[in-house]
Amino acid sequence: MSAPNIETIVSLSKRRGFVFPASDIYGGLGSSWDYGQLGVELANNIKKSWWNWVVYERDDIEGIDSSIIQNRNVWKYSGHEDTFSDPLVDCRDCNARLRLDKLDIDPADGKAMCSNCNSKNLTDPKDFNLMFRTTVGAASADDDPTALAYLRPETAQGIFINFKNVLDTSRRKLPFGIAQIGKAFRNEVTPGNFIFRTREFEQMEIEYFCRPEDAPRVHQEWIDAYGEWLGTLGISSDNIVHYEQTEKELAHYSDRTVDFLYRFFPEREEKEKQFDELLGIANRTDYDLRVHSKKPEDADGKRINPDTTEDLSYFDPQTNERFYPYCIEPSIGVNRTLLAVMMDAYTEKVNDKGEVRVILKLKPELAPIKVAVLPLAKNNEGIVTLAKKLKHDLQPLMRAVYDDTGGIGKLYARQDEIGTPFCVTVDHESLEDNAVTVRDRDTWEQERVSLDSLKEYLQKRLS
Ligand code: ATP
Repeated sequence: MSAPNIETIVSLSKRRGFVFPASDIYGGLGSSWDYGQLGVELANNIKKSWWNWVVYERDDIEGIDSSIIQNRNVWKYSGHEDTFSDPLVDCRDCNARLRLDKLDIDPADGKAMCSNCNSKNLTDPKDFNLMFRTTVGAASADDDPTALAYLRPETAQGIFINFKNVLDTSRRKLPFGIAQIGKAFRNEVTPGNFIFRTREFEQMEIEYFCRPEDAPRVHQEWIDAYGEWLGTLGISSDNIVHYEQTEKELAHYSDRTVDFLYRFFPEREEKEKQFDELLGIANRTDYDLRVHSKKPEDADGKRINPDTTEDLSYFDPQTNERFYPYCIEPSIGVNRTLLAVMMDAYTEKVNDKGEVRVILKLKPELAPIKVAVLPLAKNNEGIVTLAKKLKHDLQPLMRAVYDDTGGIGKLYARQDEIGTPFCVTVDHESLEDNAVTVRDRDTWEQERVSLDSLKEYLQKRLS
């Protein structure tokens, strides 16, 4: 089977309740998507895996949850008001509105070409700020500059402005990190490709603070660590390439950024174009802590930031030095991770009747449902009662469902398609021998397991 493309995942997602087009009954809203009953579980499991990994399993990271709407000065001093923009061009021939930095360049004359109609007849680029504007307060007017606020375009700034709060209350010493999961909003010029690029999305970000001289080493350690974590999600390293951003591509705060590109577009002919960004790991230097600090002063002795009340420098009691820590930032989108996880897990298998079956080989940790309890005969009261009881007994330990809405073959196929690692079938013998059949999603092998040992059996195989 060739690698599934995004369209295959769109179709599975809609068919089975992972992701739906948002506002669909009103004709949709371009790039907005809603997560359905299975999508929300998968996304939550990805977030849980990440939080366990960075906040619980390590000893050097604290988690926070900061506001989406902050004081406008956060975005003024972070540089986002001035520089968080994409170069926008219009095609004079087909009127498409495009991001110049994403267009193909004709090597013959160095000119960009419209991705819609291949014309080179484009307008000069204009910077388009990606931040969503809003106004705060009941009396605010749309044009009142004192009421202007933004929906955050990254969760990172909420971490920087809480640096001192966390440092003082957790009594941490360098190196240490702060992690956050939350929504971010960007008024993308060209959203699209399902949940790959949307205007509202969710990020999992770490700001890891260290001494400036340690930053290059720490940066590399995070690059290696992310490779391993993606592996635990079932994302194959064959589908990942690392990309070192060029000087021109680096964000205003970054000294070095390495992107992990995933093979989101296997159908594209040119291998290079098959890959696009899943996550980025940047060395943000001491840029952010400095810009939000009431120091330093400029050459004329004026405070560079007159609006803040804090100095976000760090005092090292061992060396008696005060300095601004450097910060390594691994930043990954929940939505793109979910898409990559589904693409990597998608497989097809032919059954003994020659029918093609979809199996979503999700890691058990990520599967929306861990076990489905199925009665072989839905009209047999004894079987149904036992199956429902089993579902309720298993539920406190793992996400379990009961389903009797079809024949057993159909029920198995449905669970395979949504990635449920195990089906437990209650049959006539179960009432006699106190045992059930456990079916494995990936091998389709079946095993008879006694009811006494079912919980331990499943827990062991799920871990
Ligand atoms: P791109 O180049 O694709 O626009 P970016 O480099 O601007 O991405 P970052 O600012 O590094 O993205 O954001 C960190 C992560 O957040 C990205 O790697 C991606 O996983 C996610 N992300 C960013 N923008 C979007 C978006 N519009 N929709 C979905 N996820 C996004």
